[in-house]
Amino acid sequence: MEHTEGQKLKEELFNSHKTGWEGMTEEIRNAVFKFAEEYMDYLNTSKTEKEIVKNSKDILVKNGFVDLLEKEELKTGDKVFFVNRARTIYAAVIGENALEDGIRMVAAHGDSPRIDLKPKPLYEDSGLGLFKTHYYGGIKKYQWTNIPLSMHATFVKSNGEKKEVVIGEDENDPIFTISDLLPHLASGQMDRKLKDGVQGEELNIVAGSMPYEDEKVSEQIKLNLLKLLYDKYGIKEVDFMSSEIEFVPAFKAKSLGLDKSMVAAYGQDDKVCCYTALRGILDIGTPKNTAVCVLTDKEEIGFCGVTGMESRTFEYFLTEVLNKAGQNRPNALEKLLHHSKVISADVDGAYDPTFPSSFDKMNSCFIGKGPTMVKYTGSRGKSGASEAPAEFVAEVRGIFEKNGVTYQSSELGKVDAGGGGTIAVVLANRGMSVIDCGVPVLSMHSPYEITSKFDVYQAYKAYEAFYRG
Ligand code: MN
Ligand code: MN
Repeated sequence: MEHTEGQKLKEELFNSHKTGWEGMTEEIRNAVFKFAEEYMDYLNTSKTEKEIVKNSKDILVKNGFVDLLEKEELKTGDKVFFVNRARTIYAAVIGENALEDGIRMVAAHGDSPRIDLKPKPLYEDSGLGLFKTHYYGGIKKYQWTNIPLSMHATFVKSNGEKKEVVIGEDENDPIFTISDLLPHLASGQMDRKLKDGVQGEELNIVAGSMPYEDEKVSEQIKLNLLKLLYDKYGIKEVDFMSSEIEFVPAFKAKSLGLDKSMVAAYGQDDKVCCYTALRGILDIGTPKNTAVCVLTDKEEIGFCGVTGMESRTFEYFLTEVLNKAGQNRPNALEKLLHHSKVISADVDGAYDPTFPSSFDKMNSCFIGKGPTMVKYTGSRGKSGASEAPAEFVAEVRGIFEKNGVTYQSSELGKVDAGGGGTIAVVLANRGMSVIDCGVPVLSMHSPYEITSKFDVYQAYKAYEAFYRG
């Protein structure tokens, strides 16, 4: 049927966001599902920031990247990586243009909300061996009780010997869990506000219940648990103080829905952008400007610390690249930063039709409509945001449009409903042009987050196009 003038005009002028699945060819659909399988495999072995770095490094090495510190000099087309203290990794492909012309960077974070142990965690009470915890990142605490948890531990002894221990990921492993009160006795708890339903000091992990057979000693359950750790790993109680013991959901990543169109998994904030940013840099050939992929740590607790995005180790990495490319001179680093263009690849909260009152529907991002560009984050009047200049937003949009990337734009939630921030502000403060652009996530920061397979694939396409420029 012939379209009316009004219909044609509306099509021309309106900003309509269709779901990405509509009109998709079978070839693309197959590519989307294949990519999602590979992504889920990566998630299942990469639940902590250290596992993200280790597995991403393996992928880089398989694709011809070498350790920057092993290179004497760098030339166009070289592919290198740099690991900061096993928790952050930077990868680069040296481009044709001078480094002072700026880099094209996509930066994601490998850390996700979780439950950490305190430095003195192990105790026994009333027939149970328990661990005291301190949660990491922004969580709704009640969501973390009564689910299977796995332990991902790094113990370092005072002689420097390191023990990596993972329990709960293999099908035959035991798991851990945080107990919650039975409803029959919870009338007092049920009167608490939801945010206090389970409190921080109530997130205790059940770790065992069998005593060491010796009536002459006290704390027989704790002793038995320490003996198990000592016999298998040589770990004593004092070693907990120099350890990082992270408890994460033991669930595997799964396809979600009758149509299998989504991924349900722990830690997709921001491992979905880690994987897509990493895959994107593998296939770019020799770019015009040097391409850099950053998988950083400590985003969830404020970007700080020696392995966070604020760490000057990032400048050390860039300076080593300048040195080894024979391009360092006074001001070279500042020029490089000033001319650089960055995507802060972080997820955004997708519109949830079950909770419409927390969103401005017009300015939300939706599952299945591609990665979302977020011009500013912040809260209460954009406070704390590094708002991207309109010129830069237009440039990135242009790259996406030229490369057939489906994208949307959004801000997080209703005005004054809350808010959040990303590493964009840290990069902008260094003098780099930066915009947030990542995958919409439902149930963000919960133990089991949801993404669309279409969006995951489009994020990969978006980042790859951006590296190329
Ligand atoms: Mn994030
Ligand atoms: Mn987050």
